[in-house]
Amino acid sequence: MQIILFGPPGAGKGTQAKRIQQEYDIPHLSTGNIFRSAIKNETELGKKVKSILDAGELVPDQTVVDLVREELKKEAYSDGYILDGFPRTVPQARAFDQMLKENDKSLDAFLVLEVPNDELIRRILSRGEGRSDDKEEKVRHRLEVYHKQTEPVKNYYEKQGLVKKIDGIGSIDEIFERIKNALER
Ligand code: ADP
Repeated sequence: MQIILFGPPGAGKGTQAKRIQQEYDIPHLSTGNIFRSAIKNETELGKKVKSILDAGELVPDQTVVDLVREELKKEAYSDGYILDGFPRTVPQARAFDQMLKENDKSLDAFLVLEVPNDELIRRILSRGEGRSDDKEEKVRHRLEVYHKQTEPVKNYYEKQGLVKKIDGIGSIDEIFERIKNALER
């Protein structure tokens, strides 16, 4: 099963991805986590993307696409996966479609976690993960980037009839129930 978990910063993608991973026994691939760990370990990739993440901008499409392409070659992903944070632009979505095709796979669901802006800001500012891009100004900027560059990805998958909208307000368990229902519908 190949699933994309989509939604704005602070929507709870990481949290729900973990639940999906446990329930369906498929790995979670988060491009944001990969970038943050590369930065922490001061790898070449980390050096390249640090200032971009700090500014709340997007890493160039080619860099992200190459990274995901390499990552998905690993055996661990051969029976499916949950993508979180990718694709984040329409060109990334097109490149991902191409990857699926090359591997004779298809996408099962594009889950959109829906949470209003004011709630997103409240959640990120209170989650206190100490991320350098979690300051209020940066958060507002990430939301702007999301609405401008990332939201069009939703229309891309709407055309393919794969979008399942999930109300992202409620307890972690409630939201996960909605996700399970959507996946089993
Ligand atoms: P959030 O959803 O809270 O913004 P992520 O962990 O998904 O957090 O992403 C953090 C940052 O990593 C983004 O602001 C961006 O700079 C970079 N990033 C992650 N995934 C991508 C991607 N697919 N394309 C471009 N940049 C990305």
